[in-house]
Amino acid sequence: MARIVMKFGGTSVADLDRIRNVAARVKREVAAGHEVAVVVSAMAGVTNQLVGWCQALSPLHDAREYDTVVATGEQVTSGLVAIALQEMGVEARSWQGWQIRLLTDGAHGKARIDRIEGAELIRRMGTGQVPVIAGFQGIGPDNRVTTLGRGGSDTSAVALAAALLADRCDIYTDVDGVYTTDPRIVAKARKLDKIAYEAMLELASVGAKVLQTRSVELAMKARVRVQVLSSFQDLPGTLVVDEDEIVEHAIVSGIAYSRDEAKVTVRRVPDRPGIAAAIFGPLAGAGVNVDMIVQNVSADGTTDMTFTLGRADLPRARKVLDDNHATIGFVEILDDPDVAKISVVGVGMRSHAGVANTMFRTLAEKGINIQVISTSEIKVSVLIGAEYTELAVRALHTAYGLDAG
Ligand code: ADP
Ligand code: ASP
Ligand code: MG
Repeated sequence: MARIVMKFGGTSVADLDRIRNVAARVKREVAAGHEVAVVVSAMAGVTNQLVGWCQALSPLHDAREYDTVVATGEQVTSGLVAIALQEMGVEARSWQGWQIRLLTDGAHGKARIDRIEGAELIRRMGTGQVPVIAGFQGIGPDNRVTTLGRGGSDTSAVALAAALLADRCDIYTDVDGVYTTDPRIVAKARKLDKIAYEAMLELASVGAKVLQTRSVELAMKARVRVQVLSSFQDLPGTLVVDEDEIVEHAIVSGIAYSRDEAKVTVRRVPDRPGIAAAIFGPLAGAGVNVDMIVQNVSADGTTDMTFTLGRADLPRARKVLDDNHATIGFVEILDDPDVAKISVVGVGMRSHAGVANTMFRTLAEKGINIQVISTSEIKVSVLIGAEYTELAVRALHTAYGLDAG
């Protein structure tokens, strides 16, 4: 007998038939004698709609009220899955973040989990009851509902697996595992049997949304065995494991893209000590995460500072910069939301040169202009025009020898 957390994403609970399918899968594990806790996302498309409503009313909406709105999608599916399970003769009960007491910090819209009070859930699982937990949500220090950032149900699932001392955390989704790149845009993408925590973490952080970055971070820290698998087919999935469990290391393990980026250029700021702090300090203070940064040197004592950020943060960032015009002293601000970040990731890069060069050469051969570059020990990222996303990812997938035979 094992204790399992089963997480189902948006497409897996997109309609009532799929909810019945989820309940049947859960019932199978219960019938096999396992203790099961279920974590659900909102129905596919629902969270986008809820976010869209907040943005339409106010681009700079109150983050607490945003959380009040967007957390509702998971409340619906947790109740529906519980009903479907009861209908199949499985004892089940829904749980919202505040009922478990899944406690987070106060960063509304991107909260971090501080603590989960798991004792009551464990007790009920011991009696054969299946808790069906609304993913993505918790409760903050102000006693209000918080959400964990887009894709956050993965993190709910891994955190619950750790808190409930589960033997594994199965992430059921609409693909049958983690691939060398998004199988929806590269038909030749290859499924990985195993991927190292480090590589998965890096892939997730640069846009492979199959797992939310924080869920991988947590799994790595708390040693949770995570498996990604299909909720529609009975196929072996991908195990996320320690680096030393992987026998053969590819230099490049995968390619990811993110279209959720925007580029901002702060034009002609004085080229003096403290200018970066004057720009990025207030942005950090407003909770805007900046990703890639380039500063150009120019001859006339001024410089251009270009950076990227999440596209959703663009209105907020523009306001912060405008509010700080006097201390920064820029001439103008340009922004471009039509950009994409393409990243090549691999643990093997640590010991191999030439990975970045292959990337630059491949993109040049396709006539794709690189706007910004950033690198880390196991990753190279470039910013390009969004219209070249698919072309770039496919060309790089071939160039690094990742295409399925
Ligand atoms: P869920 O709603 O189940 O959480 P998501 O849409 O968040 O599903 O994540 C699954 C999607 O992630 C897949 O449909 C796929 O398009 C995308 N994806 C991106 N990169 C990868 C990758 N390397 N391997 C598998 N899927 C990927
Ligand atoms: N429903 C939330 C979202 O779409 C959380 C999740 O699906 O993981 O971002
Ligand atoms: Mg997801």
